Amino acid sequence: MAWDRDTVHHLFSQSEARSIISIPLSMNRKEDKLTWHFTKDGRYSVKSGYKVAKTLKENELRSPASSGNKTGLWKWLWALSIPNKVKIFLWRCLYGILPTKGALIRKGVSIEGVCTRCGMMVESNEHAVRDCMWMEHYWVVSPLRFRLPEISQRGTLGDWIVFMKEHGDKEGHALFAMLMWGAWCSRNDVTFGKNTHDQSHYIQMAINRLHEHAAALSNRTKTLRDEKLDRWMPPDAGYIKVNTDAYIREGEGSWIGVAIRDERGQIVTTLSRLISTEFDVAIAEAIACRDGRHWN
Ligand SMILES: [Zn+2]
Repeated sequence: MAWDRDTVHHLFSQSEARSIISIPLSMNRKEDKLTWHFTKDGRYSVKSGYKVAKTLKENELRSPASSGNKTGLWKWLWALSIPNKVKIFLWRCLYGILPTKGALIRKGVSIEGVCTRCGMMVESNEHAVRDCMWMEHYWVVSPLRFRLPEISQRGTLGDWIVFMKEHGDKEGHALFAMLMWGAWCSRNDVTFGKNTHDQSHYIQMAINRLHEHAAALSNRTKTLRDEKLDRWMPPDAGYIKVNTDAYIREGEGSWIGVAIRDERGQIVTTLSRLISTEFDVAIAEAIACRDGRHWN
């Protein structure tokens, strides 16, 4: 009956996580259910679906992704080997919809739209992660060694991402995406008055997250492969298969278990018994094998 804060922060961007955690939870334990955000009663209607699709289509036409190979751009983005929340962050950059101070002013939220760090410019998407003079050091000491005057000429963040996509390899793209996200985290920490670390902290964080993600991915592939090997397969027609196992229960002895199944995977018979002596696991496994063979 409480938000799993670690998981929420792990999966979503800071501002999304804050919004999610601020949603009050029901006091009586109710089942979760899916609702459609775009109708009053939360139920999907074709009419509202059509309206949403139309708006999305219009937004898409306005984004930089509309110039050139649009499908190619989204495919490239979703295939990047980076955490999902960073993909969504990059997607927001492509649409130019980061929740910057400049964007809040456009929405009529009355706050001062000036960048918290330099206090000089209105905070646009580009200013927030790239063009502020406080980001100069970040990009130049990053492994990409970007110089601010040069990258500032790359147009909007969307144009910049499209440019980067056309240059370099997959590893370089993933690193670039992570560094963009690191720059945004640094901006958020200053804006929300959190502990401010020096820029190299955020560069290191971005690189660490990239490595952690790669490690997690390779672990998952390994587990999937192992699971495939471990999956039980029925015997050939006309045969039975005998599976045996043993385990030691301290102070009690060794238990052995046998399951015999036919070609359809149906249980023919099972056996489990306690051997009073505490054997070594390997010996107990051997006894289980012997019993399994004698059982039928
Ligand atoms: Zn600034």
